[in-house]
Amino acid sequence: MTFHITVQPSGHQFSCEEDETVLAAAMRAGVGLPYGCKNGACSSCKGKVISGSVSHKAHQQRALTPEEEAQGYSLFCCATAHADLVIEAREVAGSGDFPIRKMPSRVATLDKVAPDVIILTLQLPANEKLQYRAGQYIEFMLRDGKRRSYSMATAPDRDEPISLHIRHMPGGLFTEQVFSTLKERDILRFEGPLGTFFVREDSDKPMVLLASGTGFAPIKAIVEHMIHAGSTRPMTLYWGGRRPQDLYMDALCRQWAAELPHFHYVPVVSNALAEDGWQGRDGFVHQAVIQDFPDLSGHQVYACGAPIVVDSAKHDFVQQCALPEDEFYADAFTTEADINKP
Ligand SMILES: Cc1cc2nc3c(=O)[nH]c(=O)nc-3n(C[C@H](O)[C@H](O)[C@H](O)COP(=O)(O)OP(=O)(O)OC[C@H]3O[C@@H](n4cnc5c(N)ncnc54)[C@H](O)[C@@H]3O)c2cc1C
Repeated sequence: MTFHITVQPSGHQFSCEEDETVLAAAMRAGVGLPYGCKNGACSSCKGKVISGSVSHKAHQQRALTPEEEAQGYSLFCCATAHADLVIEAREVAGSGDFPIRKMPSRVATLDKVAPDVIILTLQLPANEKLQYRAGQYIEFMLRDGKRRSYSMATAPDRDEPISLHIRHMPGGLFTEQVFSTLKERDILRFEGPLGTFFVREDSDKPMVLLASGTGFAPIKAIVEHMIHAGSTRPMTLYWGGRRPQDLYMDALCRQWAAELPHFHYVPVVSNALAEDGWQGRDGFVHQAVIQDFPDLSGHQVYACGAPIVVDSAKHDFVQQCALPEDEFYADAFTTEADINKP
């Protein structure tokens, strides 16, 4: 059975089969609903059902609480329609501009830049180019239908191979392979570009960029894109890690700060050891932002990395710093373990 979906306030319409999610149907139709993990864990796709009814597949209660569900909120990435729907969602201009494609790629290089971070570059088939927006990600298609997401760390404007920053998660299906058996010239199939974590270029508000660990990857692409576009929009990057070595491209960030008058960089380390000799800011990275920006009412925030950091930042920036909720843009690096939580 096919249902008819109308998005408010845009009035865009699309059809949705009974066995597909509202988000999948919107993406198929090129309607730009916001989304991140596509797995019911990050809440980027949360919106409201104004009329009609949906049911939700397995999702994390943290992403959509039973109270929110009772009030008509929905996670469109795991909602299937039971009737024609009118939904309320903030659409993302430009998210459907580039086709989502499946492609084979070859591992070009594997560089270990920290004890638990590898930078992997991909070679695409001859004459193929992946068009994407800085901040978007691809999904590797693994055996048994499993998928794993990684954000492009290179700005699309730069004619460079796609590079990904991959953090080792011990026992993890894909990253164990990356850190042990994967080698140059191996073939990886992926689908992309995906996601709506990219700069809203219709705004000139100052930007706070918040990265934890390899959450730096899409932020790097965003900064490079802004540099390439000649933007002078103020940007302050907070990059947090447990130890200084987690900030594996610290020198590049310091170089941006030295060369660009509108760019500032604040590295933050939460668990430095005495032997690290860390002299910089310490504590949780999002709390450093709160100390420096007690009023975020005129800013946009772009946050990426560990779900706990992204969630805490959103909550505290909105509650304590008057950040408008819809000026917080994020990709939380949710994992299989997050998705399997109740
Ligand atoms: C939009 C998006 C973009 C991302 N971009 C990046 C990126 O640029 N860089 C990056 O490093 N990561 C990124 N991630 C995270 C990435 O997709 C993977 O989730 C991560 O690399 C782990 O994959 P894995 O297969 O190695 O681990 P998984 O198999 O997913 O396991 C993750 C961890 O959980 C444990 N685990 C697995 N299953 C269970 C379970 N049932 N119960 C308890 N524990 C369990 C494993 O031992 C492991 O430690 C992104 C995620 C999203 C959603």
